[in-house]
Order: sequence, then C-alpha cells, then structure tokens
Amino acid sequence: MNDSQLNHLDLYRLPWTLSDNAISWLEPIAMCNLSCDGCYRENEKKSHLPIEEVKHHLDVFQKLRNSDCISIAGGDPLLYPEIVEIVTDIKNRGLKPIIKSLVLLESWLN
Ligand code: SF4
Repeated sequence: MNDSQLNHLDLYRLPWTLSDNAISWLEPIAMCNLSCDGCYRENEKKSHLPIEEVKHHLDVFQKLRNSDCISIAGGDPLLYPEIVEIVTDIKNRGLKPIIKSLVLLESWLN
C-alpha cells in the first residue's frame, strides 16, 4: 500500500466493545408521527424524558463509554421539546450529535 491510500485501521477502532464504540444511542422520546410496521418502539404521546434525565444518560455515556458520536433517536427526536438543548449539550461535551429523524410534521399528514 502506498502513502496516498487510506488505511481503514486508522479510521476505525475495531473491534468495538460495550465500553468503547463509535456511537452511543440516546432515545429521549418515544413519540413519532408515523406508525411503521416493525417499529420496536411504543408510540406514546407526551413520552419525552425530562431534560435532567437525558443529561444523566449523557453523563453515563461519557463516564462509562468511549463514543465519538451520540445518535439521537426515538420515536422522532425532532418532536422532543428541548432538542436544541440536547444537541448543544452533546456538542459542548466534544461529541458529535446525529439526529435520526424523518423531519415529518403532523400537519403534513392531514
Ligand atoms: S420511530 Fe421510526 S420506525 Fe418507529 S414509527 Fe417512527 S419512523 Fe417508523
């Protein structure tokens, strides 16, 4: 391999372990505007966790895991009332926030 080629071993920390992996998974809300077959979440309105509990989950991720990114899922995380605060907090911790959303508003369904 010459110097101009990428070495995938420089890009990944394989093998990942429970405490050392690229992505931690945060689910602050179970509510979603869709109801897909096969969805493993119970779609519940007003299901969002208090922001203090979300931050506690982030504290645990930082203390016990060595993640580069926090994947924010749900439900639809954009329905979480303080999603901007979560994203800002993750960024301020030096981690990369990733939002898993459909960007599908309820008004579009009517
Ligand atoms: S959380 Fe994802 S899989 Fe579940 S209903 Fe919503 S869009 Fe579908």
